[in-house]
Amino acid sequence: MLYEVLVSIPLDKKYTYKSPKNLNIGVGDVVSVPFGKRQEQIGVVTSITQESDLKYPIKNLKKINNKINNIRLQPDLIKFISWVSKYTLYSEGMIMKMVLPNFNIINCDLKKIENIKNSYQKKYEIKLNNEQKNAFLKIKKLFKKKYVNIVLEGVTGSGKTEVYFEAIDEILKENKQVLILLPEISLTTSIKDRFTKRFGFEPNIWHSKISLSKKRNIWHNSYLGKNKIVVGARSSLFLPFKDLGLIIVDEEHDLSYKQEDGVRYNGRDMAIVRSKIHEIPIILSTATPSIETYFNIKNKRYEKVYLSKQYSGSDLSRINLINLSKEKLEKNNWISKEIIIAIKKCLNNKKQSLIFLNRRGYAPLTICNSCGHRIECDFCSTWLVMHSKKNILSCHHCGFSEKFVDKCKNCKSENTLRLIGPGIERIAEEVKRNFPEAKIEILSSENMNTSNKIEKVIKNIKSKKIDIMVATQILAKGHDFPSLSLVAVLDSDSGLKGGDLRASEHTYNLLQQVGGRAGRSDEVGDVYIQTYFEENPLIQSLKNRDREKFLENMIIERKKFNLPPFFHLISIILSGPVKGELLQFGKKILLNYPENNSIKLLGPVEAPIFLLRGRYRYRILLSSSNRRELNLCTQKWLKNIRVLSKIRLTPDVDPYSFM
Ligand code: ADP
Ligand code: ZN
Ligand code: ZN
Repeated sequence: MLYEVLVSIPLDKKYTYKSPKNLNIGVGDVVSVPFGKRQEQIGVVTSITQESDLKYPIKNLKKINNKINNIRLQPDLIKFISWVSKYTLYSEGMIMKMVLPNFNIINCDLKKIENIKNSYQKKYEIKLNNEQKNAFLKIKKLFKKKYVNIVLEGVTGSGKTEVYFEAIDEILKENKQVLILLPEISLTTSIKDRFTKRFGFEPNIWHSKISLSKKRNIWHNSYLGKNKIVVGARSSLFLPFKDLGLIIVDEEHDLSYKQEDGVRYNGRDMAIVRSKIHEIPIILSTATPSIETYFNIKNKRYEKVYLSKQYSGSDLSRINLINLSKEKLEKNNWISKEIIIAIKKCLNNKKQSLIFLNRRGYAPLTICNSCGHRIECDFCSTWLVMHSKKNILSCHHCGFSEKFVDKCKNCKSENTLRLIGPGIERIAEEVKRNFPEAKIEILSSENMNTSNKIEKVIKNIKSKKIDIMVATQILAKGHDFPSLSLVAVLDSDSGLKGGDLRASEHTYNLLQQVGGRAGRSDEVGDVYIQTYFEENPLIQSLKNRDREKFLENMIIERKKFNLPPFFHLISIILSGPVKGELLQFGKKILLNYPENNSIKLLGPVEAPIFLLRGRYRYRILLSSSNRRELNLCTQKWLKNIRVLSKIRLTPDVDPYSFM
């Protein structure tokens, strides 16, 4: 017998190996094989073949070293790897690497693996209200089908989490495993606490930042079927569950589900695929279904379960528009009087306020007053952002930073640099000027970059150690802060003019999500939205809470401009150190794209961020109404491209970023 092995290297090709005599090997076995110069490379046996199929002498074949911990991946998982590879246009080897992320995780002393026993136990009974109960009963009934896609839609605070907990309970009773996907690491903490209270055991938390030993424990326990719940970021989708019974994708609409480095894939979409392959139900939970999901509900591909009101019974927060073209803000002020007065009231009532601006640092742009020079990144075509706490200028794209010195590099004048516009640090300064006594905290990915820090901040907010939060979108989602009663959105317009096709949707969601943070307990909260474009349809839909109208408009627009879900897109990014060579290369490879009338080819054109980390970037956009043709042709095309050294070619199927 001979064995075809998929080796975890960025290739689709399988390699054939012999097996030592005393080794009993089957399809799915995780093995160690010699590969190239390496003595040990991890791989998976994908099929068994005969000597007669071999096109070269058997004596040239190497032997499999050994099996690793007797691990055998299930056929469903292997099918999933292959499916994801075909869809995303990344090699099976690279997708397999997401299942077997690290040799040390797989190949370890099993005696050292923590023996997790998540015994089923219902800690306390929650009494669902009528609407919630009906939602749950409907879900329970739908669970009778093998594969079903359920969209659990409900306003923030309506109890979606409680309802899906109830659904999880059903799966746990059958002793199966459940995966809860969250778009962001920061959300795992509060789910963990709620879950533990409810079910009496801690769920496993999986994301890139947890330690290797934790990863090891979770990986092997998932494989053994001993841990019943994993709460994780998108990478947890590739865990080798023994008996997966349900996947939940919380905040389904969230753009963070799209991975923008390494293999480009959408965690939500691949979760749907995995549930289809496993023939299990999936629940997409959201207050703001994405256009794609909305479209799939309309076309009866997904089942919708709806919660219409907040559990607390209180009305949704009031939405107040502030028209900035009427109120003239003073120089170096960005918060309108009305908001300042409202924050003051909150402080008096011992309530918290959240000021939202999706821009880190102190000022997004620095200009020389004397010569007009704007300070750019040396490696990217972007402005450097001033950070006052660290006194640096920093590039938010490549991470480059330098000390802030008030001297123009261009004309050499001193003390002429002017900081333009606000970031959250500058807003915090303005807040401090108005409320010197208040406890103010700046919150962004800079200081909320580890699970510990996130946990601490969230605790501090809940225990009211902070009065006013000045935050980026890091606080926009999912969190439940009972004392928060005011949310102010300072710049709602930046997303309206954005260039990419999801900019409006994203802005709408973000604003609605941020707004959803206010008034989740007994009182009505207030949301203030500053805008120069009061009459913009998006702002109006938001004000009138008419999301349906907004989505219908978007769908008409998408159809008109041949965009998803009517047309499918694949973007190819070429990057390299030499402009001319890169453009030549792009033009040349496009000439070899397979002849196909249904596929439109665009580019290569300069990417909006033309220079990134010292590399130039060109984009190619391929589109078609026929998904299958588009993927097949592109796959065939990519196979025959010989990428020049120094040039990188990155496929992105269903792109979200057009930068
Ligand atoms: P969503 O996920 O829709 O935003 P949550 O599930 O977080 O809503 O519920 C909002 C708040 O209301 C939470 O504090 C939750 O514990 C509470 N809640 C919801 N439903 C119930 C219920 N049936 N009984 C008790 N508390 C509930
Ligand atoms: Zn100058
Ligand atoms: Zn840069």
